[in-house]
Amino acid sequence: MTVQQRRFFYLVPALFLLLVPVSHGQQDFSQVVVTSRPVAGNVLMLEGSGGNIGLLLGDDGALMVDAQYAGLADKIRAALGELGSGDPKLLINTHWHRDHTDGNRAFGPRVPILAHTRVRDRLAVDQHLLGRVVPALPAAALPTITFDEEVTLHFGGEAVRVVHFPGGHTDGDAVVFFTGSRAVHMGDLMFAGRFPFVDLESGGDVEGYARNVAAVLEQLSDDTKVIPGHGPLSSVQDLRRFHRMMVESIDMVRGKMARGATVEEIKSDGVAAEWRDWTWNFISTDRWLETIHTSLARKQSASTGR
Ligand SMILES: [Zn+2]
Repeated sequence: MTVQQRRFFYLVPALFLLLVPVSHGQQDFSQVVVTSRPVAGNVLMLEGSGGNIGLLLGDDGALMVDAQYAGLADKIRAALGELGSGDPKLLINTHWHRDHTDGNRAFGPRVPILAHTRVRDRLAVDQHLLGRVVPALPAAALPTITFDEEVTLHFGGEAVRVVHFPGGHTDGDAVVFFTGSRAVHMGDLMFAGRFPFVDLESGGDVEGYARNVAAVLEQLSDDTKVIPGHGPLSSVQDLRRFHRMMVESIDMVRGKMARGATVEEIKSDGVAAEWRDWTWNFISTDRWLETIHTSLARKQSASTGR
């Protein structure tokens, strides 16, 4: 096996486990503990396995952002119960990836689900991700309310803005601004302290991703608490640093491509020392640089018509 093949061999299963259950019920969640932590105001964050869950607790129940895996639904319900809530009154999907939406299968039949139009479109049919097929969700697990640009919910005494940002992590990303509690759920437009996954097969784009993070930053005050899609609860300063990492990485790769460097040369150069420990098993430094290269090269060939 070449180094390249070996990397592919180990990387694909790791990626796949994070993003999608291999098939219903096959993943073992018995060791996963679902914990809750206060974020700001009436907003909390639940951590278990998969994308971080955001919760807004009001007098009339909970609004939940993302739902991890259906196999964790009982533990999520237990956490909600400890917080004095039953099933959420409304569930929001930040994007289609199943580590955020598989839980729709458990909550969907009873709970209305809000998502961007393209999230519903993608969940309704089989998707292709990293060479595998991710099966469609059953009808009862699909979003019941869709929006295209932005929608404001009035819940728990505050305005909750759900805003679509195009062509970033996927083509259906939403960011949830809890305007009263001064908190934001980024969906997978933030991986805290680590290189992000950018789903180029689902309309993702590295430059669009960085632009979208900048656009979110413009709307946040310095003391806003930031729930990332993956990683620990963060600050606006953490989000700024994440954005700087993206911009510096993209600028570096773009400059090297302009000078004729190959992707292998770009990978062997690596990233600046400041970002070396942002590598992780899911998105290694090599994969991050490859993703940037693929995303930029795709646009270049589209603009030159090659
Ligand atoms: Zn994702």
